[in-house]
Amino acid sequence: MASSVKNETVSVPYETIIGEDFDEDTFRVLRHLSVDSESTDEEIASKANMSVNCVRRALYKLYDTRIATYRRVRDTKTSYFVHLWKLLPVKSNIQTYKKKAKFVIEKLKQRLEFERKNVFYHCGNKDCPYITFDEAVESRFKCPVCSTPLQYVNNEKAIEFLSRKIDELKEEVENLPP
Ligand SMILES: [Zn+2]
Repeated sequence: MASSVKNETVSVPYETIIGEDFDEDTFRVLRHLSVDSESTDEEIASKANMSVNCVRRALYKLYDTRIATYRRVRDTKTSYFVHLWKLLPVKSNIQTYKKKAKFVIEKLKQRLEFERKNVFYHCGNKDCPYITFDEAVESRFKCPVCSTPLQYVNNEKAIEFLSRKIDELKEEVENLPP
């Protein structure tokens, strides 16, 4: 069974696939997990030189994102339940990542459309929101929050940034294994 799982596995570093949502602890735990063999949270804690609580928190993060999985078994000596952890094959993670990336691309496209279709105004205070032209007319070109006169905002840079981000993500998704 292990070999059939192995054949499906694509060797892409996990760091590439899971992006940057994870903290240092989670990456450390990740390095001590394997697709082929199982370990308990305590084993990982001692190998990674971390507290068991930190390891558990990281493991559940990896479980939630379908990167790791566990089996619950009863320890014959202590009769307590232990969790045996291992990584899921990378392939399923690639699919999850692709789905996530496509969702982000969609959101960025919507934002890009919005930036292209609208003209923006802002009062210059960083805590105040950006206002569309219609909203600016309504508030007589004064900030609805702080009443400072509104200035036209050139959003070319935002449009450029969004277009570049969309292209980068698209390219990344296209280059991932199927
Ligand atoms: Zn303001």
